[in-house]
Amino acid sequence: MSPTNSADMYTDPSLFPGVDVYAVVGNPIGHSKSPVIHQRFAEQAKQKIYYGRIRAELGGFTAAAKSFFAAGGKGLNVTVPFKLDAQEYAEVLTPRAQLAGAVNTLYIHNGKILGDNTDGAGLVRDLLAQGIHIQGARILLLGAGGAARGVIGPLLEQCPKQLMIANRSSAKAGDLVRLFEGLAKTHGVEMTSHSLITLEDQEKIRSPFELVINATAAGLSDESPLSAQAAHNIFSPSSFAYDMVYGKTTTFMQQALQRGARVSDGLGMLVEQAADAFLIWRGAELSQAIDPRLVLAELRS
Ligand code: NDP
Repeated sequence: MSPTNSADMYTDPSLFPGVDVYAVVGNPIGHSKSPVIHQRFAEQAKQKIYYGRIRAELGGFTAAAKSFFAAGGKGLNVTVPFKLDAQEYAEVLTPRAQLAGAVNTLYIHNGKILGDNTDGAGLVRDLLAQGIHIQGARILLLGAGGAARGVIGPLLEQCPKQLMIANRSSAKAGDLVRLFEGLAKTHGVEMTSHSLITLEDQEKIRSPFELVINATAAGLSDESPLSAQAAHNIFSPSSFAYDMVYGKTTTFMQQALQRGARVSDGLGMLVEQAADAFLIWRGAELSQAIDPRLVLAELRS
């Protein structure tokens, strides 16, 4: 019997007696790299697990998660479009999941479903691994959706000098600034919000940014959130441009390259957030046994 029914992409833990079963839930889910990433961590740490996929119908997240845990599943990762459903489904939230307003990692803790969010920690670790100095930096964050919200807390904790959030709808960027203003103050960070159009105004931008993070979904449809003028204003050869979308050189990354900036896609963030989830599930003492940068290099080769 096949452990995963490819017709509906549902991983049934009861088909793996004696093995701890995990899965990633999303829609679509066929192309998720999470199974191969977690399987590699398990090999590195000599852990016997099975990690599969679950394609839930829209509106069907809770039913899928309930039956997964009822069948003995140990933990779930959650991706687009279910991170808010996962937050509602969780009985207890970690402080960072609460702050992020979204959950990407679920597991049972003290008999309750616990929801965590490892996306922001994953981004910060990938940036630091690439030698980016976040402390004291001027950062521009593009986007105000779930991914942007998830990374603001971990970025503020690194004490940048400034965090500007720019979004197509400036009202949503303003909401995020209000939500995080207390944390920004605690860490001495100047936080502002703008519309993407404002980035075309050189006087308002003052000077290019050291770090520009694209947390919009524009790259998925081969678009950039930046006009040519905005790209000219915000990038310089000393900028680092990070696109959360992975697997291609996006238009945003091309604009940065044209200005002489360094660029990265978001594959490292994906691997690092997975590493965090793996250690939450399997034990923090395995942190020396897994090598996320090696797994990243293997994925890129
Ligand atoms: P949401 O749907 O919650 O938010 C989408 C954001 O993108 C909004 O700010 C929206 O602006 C903006 N946007 C969408 N299209 C355009 C466009 N054409 N031009 C300008 N802005 C646009 O999505 P998420 O925040 O969950 O995800 C954002 C991206 O991050 C996705 O591509 C996702 O794949 C990626 N991601 C990568 C991760 C990784 O590990 N590498 C982890 C998490 C996410 P508006 O508010 O005005 O509509």
